[in-house]
Amino acid sequence: MLQLGNSLFQGNDFAPAFLGFMCACFLLGLLGWTIVSAFLDAIARAKRMHQIPCTNCRFFTNDYRLKCTMNPYIANTEKAIDCSDYISD
Ligand code: SF4
Repeated sequence: MLQLGNSLFQGNDFAPAFLGFMCACFLLGLLGWTIVSAFLDAIARAKRMHQIPCTNCRFFTNDYRLKCTMNPYIANTEKAIDCSDYISD
């Protein structure tokens, strides 16, 4: 019985190598997917940030103490994207 088990494992060197190869492929795929996902998230975030209209608004002061004279708490934030007080400068 022991000889049969030894002969099974000695003659099958392919299985551990294939298992290692599959693990390496899985980890590389996971790394690639993470990088692509982070890149796409960064692009989506940048597009969202470029929708903030404050820098082209008449009420934007460009002063960190009072960014906007109408809505200072939402100026330069995502909440300002649909600001009803926006007037083009
Ligand atoms: S009025 Fe609205 S769009 Fe204009 S600067 Fe203030 S928060 Fe931004």
